[in-house]
Amino acid sequence: MVEIKNLVKKYGNKYALDDISFTINSGEIVGFLGPNGAGKSTTMNIVTGYLASTSGTVVVDGKDILENALEAKKLIGYLPEQPPLYVDMTVQEYLDFVFELKGCTLNKAKHIDEICTITKITSVRERLIKNLSKGYKQRVGIAQALIGNPPIIIFDEPTVGLDPKQIIEVRNLIRNLGKTHTVILSTHILSEVQSVCNRIVVINNGKIVADEKTENLTKTITENLRYRVKVSGPQREVTQALRTIPGIVNVEALNERDADAFVYIVEGAPNVDIRKKLFRTLAAKDWPMLGLEAVGTDLEDIFIRLTDKTGKKKGE
Ligand code: ADP
Ligand code: MG
Repeated sequence: MVEIKNLVKKYGNKYALDDISFTINSGEIVGFLGPNGAGKSTTMNIVTGYLASTSGTVVVDGKDILENALEAKKLIGYLPEQPPLYVDMTVQEYLDFVFELKGCTLNKAKHIDEICTITKITSVRERLIKNLSKGYKQRVGIAQALIGNPPIIIFDEPTVGLDPKQIIEVRNLIRNLGKTHTVILSTHILSEVQSVCNRIVVINNGKIVADEKTENLTKTITENLRYRVKVSGPQREVTQALRTIPGIVNVEALNERDADAFVYIVEGAPNVDIRKKLFRTLAAKDWPMLGLEAVGTDLEDIFIRLTDKTGKKKGE
C-alpha cells in the first residue's frame, strides 16, 4: 500500500535520512519507533508529500507521491506533530474548511457528523478551537485527518503533551481506526507501539535498525533483561542465595544501602522471567524484597542492542 524506497534527506550536508526503505501492507497497523531526532517526522512529511526528499521514492497504492501528488495524497490522512489547526475557528467551521480544501465529494453534513462521533468531539463542535483542552485539540486534529475517508492514516507523536486519561483515549481511537484503515503510528514511546501496533519499524540516526512483528521485537528487547532488586537482609548471604537461583546468570551487589537493605543487579538467562523465583527465594529466607525494577529498557539502550543485533546479522 505504501512503498518507501531508498529515501535520503539531507539538511545542508547532514543526513537526516540515510537510505531508508520499507513497505506497509494494506490493513497493517505499523509503529514507526525511534528516539527524538531519529528522522521520524522527516519520513512522515516526505511520505505525505509535505516535504521533498533528496532522493528516493514513495509510492502509495501504485501512485508516486511526486508524479501523482493529488491522487496519492487523497489516499492519506495525516496528523502531523503540530496539527494544522486554525484556532480562531470553531470546530465546525474548521472541519467544513478542511472538507472544502480536500475537495471532498461525500455528503458533507453526514460525513462530518460521522467523524465527530468517531472522534468524540460532537459536544464541542460550536466551540472555538483555541478554547479547547489539548486532548480535544488533538481529537480535532484526528478528525481533520479522517475527512475524505482516506484508507491510510498517519499519526506523528499523537499523544505527546496529553494527560494519562487522554493518552488512553487517543490510543483506543487509533486502535479502533486500525480495524478499518492502514495505520502508521510514529512515536518515540515503546509501550505505545507495543500496545497499538502489529509490526514495528525502528529508526535510529536516519537508518532502519529493525523491522519486525511486535511480539518478536518485544522478545528481543526482553532477552537478558536485568533487574535492580532491593533486599532487606545480609548482603553476602543474599548475594549467594541469588546466585543459586536457576535462570539467574549474574548477580552484582551495589554499594548502595538503605538501612538494612542492599541493592543488587540481577540478570536472567534469555527468555527466562526470574521475578517469581526471586520473590519465592527471598520470601522463604524472610528477606523482604523492597524494590524490583527492570533496567536497560529505555529506548537508547534498546536501540543500541538492536543496532548490535543488526550489525551481527550482517557479519554472519
Ligand atoms: P524525529 O521526528 O524522529 O524526532 P526529525 O525527522 O524531526 O526527527 O529530525 C531528524 C533530524 O533532522 C534531526 O537531527 C533534526 O535536527 C534534523 N532536522 C529536522 N528538520 C530540519 C530542518 N528543517 N533543518 C535542519 N535540520 C532538520
Ligand atoms: Mg518528530
